[in-house]
Amino acid sequence: MNLRVLGCSGSIALDNRTTCFQLDERILVDAGTGVGDLTLDEMAGIDHILLSHSHLDHVLGIPLLADSVMQHRLSRPDFRPIQVHGLPETLEALRAHLFNNIIWPDFTRLPSRERPIIELVPFQIGERLELAGLTIEVLPAHHTVPACGFGVDTPSGWWIYTGDTGPNPALWERLRGRAIAQLVIETAFSDEERALAEISRHLSPSMLAEELEQLDLDCDTSIAITHVKPGEMAAVTGQLAELDIRVPVFALTRGERYRF
Ligand SMILES: [Zn+2]
Ligand SMILES: [Zn+2]
Repeated sequence: MNLRVLGCSGSIALDNRTTCFQLDERILVDAGTGVGDLTLDEMAGIDHILLSHSHLDHVLGIPLLADSVMQHRLSRPDFRPIQVHGLPETLEALRAHLFNNIIWPDFTRLPSRERPIIELVPFQIGERLELAGLTIEVLPAHHTVPACGFGVDTPSGWWIYTGDTGPNPALWERLRGRAIAQLVIETAFSDEERALAEISRHLSPSMLAEELEQLDLDCDTSIAITHVKPGEMAAVTGQLAELDIRVPVFALTRGERYRF
């Protein structure tokens, strides 16, 4: 599987894009501002968007992407809607607050009810999806709104993305004994803001260390942090270096590509 990091920041600033990962050609995991780094042709090739939760930094690219590619996709003889996959509560939030004809037109009914550009497809925690040649498992997360993470089965082991989450023992339970090629785990705040991280159900470096203690890590697993707030990167990486974590942890960078 080819992974392209289009966005891995907790918010925006010059050169910072919010969460968006491209898996091979046709799948996006979350659709933050990183979507804007795709060319129009690359956007038109996206058939599936998997959402970890409803927060704006993860969904705001969907309505704009739909607008950008609608005519292009409709002109194809093999037209199919873009499937947006999420928990039922996440999809309901998109309907109520994004595709509500106030914030944005309802692209789940455009250009017509019979042939819309966006199709909302619910999944449940624990479900395994077969999409565009990949097997993707929906993993538990613990955030301020219903949320999930994802695991993708690759020839090198599992690629795991935690989504936005606070402490998440259910995830470590589910991953026990699995070969993990890369764990992408959020670390939104520095330790100075640990109290804020706890209230908003995110992680800080010391919380990350406590989480990793619960996982049998093999030294082949690459651990990458994501969703660091712009302006906090130096504090977060400095604090990570001070902690006694058994495996190297590094911060993902926008534009990176990996093959698993
Ligand atoms: Zn969130
Ligand atoms: Zn977020």
